[in-house]
Amino acid sequence: MASASQVEEDLATAVAFMQLAIQQAKIAMDSLEVPVGCVIVEDGKVIASGRNRTTETRNATRHAEMEAIDVLLEQWQRTGISVAQVAEKFSNCILYVTCEPCIMCAAALSILGIKKVYYGCANDKFGGCGSILSLHSGSSEHQFSDEGSQRKGFTCTGGILASEAISLLRSFYEQGNPNAPKPHRQPVHQPGN
Ligand SMILES: [Zn+2]
Repeated sequence: MASASQVEEDLATAVAFMQLAIQQAKIAMDSLEVPVGCVIVEDGKVIASGRNRTTETRNATRHAEMEAIDVLLEQWQRTGISVAQVAEKFSNCILYVTCEPCIMCAAALSILGIKKVYYGCANDKFGGCGSILSLHSGSSEHQFSDEGSQRKGFTCTGGILASEAISLLRSFYEQGNPNAPKPHRQPVHQPGN
């Protein structure tokens, strides 16, 4: 069992890396994207970062996690490492993301076999790490039938700098998402027209 000081140290580390993820979310915000950001850490070092780019890319799957994962895959593929080595590398990686991974990202992370995920606020609509589905638990409940896509469980801890993550999302939606469909106004019938 971890000692109290060890737990405190882990939490301080998680907060420090989550601050970097928050920075990524702020860059997304500045680019008028839904402000979600992440970093991937290996051996205490950030090896990739990502931010939501769904608007810029006009691709609804370009979530922060997918961006960061692709940075790594590209890097690793360039060095010519094998699929097994890629899996080995992911199994040593920790992801820090400002909002709970959605179902799509949580499934991807479990297929890749990431070691651990820390997230900020919960994702009540699409969360794949406890809110809607629990894809991190690695149970057979949602097991993919494709043998090449065996999912592995990963540890998941939420609530790291959650209020910062929420306030970014809130101010994004309050300032009005310029890319959201415009509300349809009812035609006003004026007397005499
Ligand atoms: Zn996602």
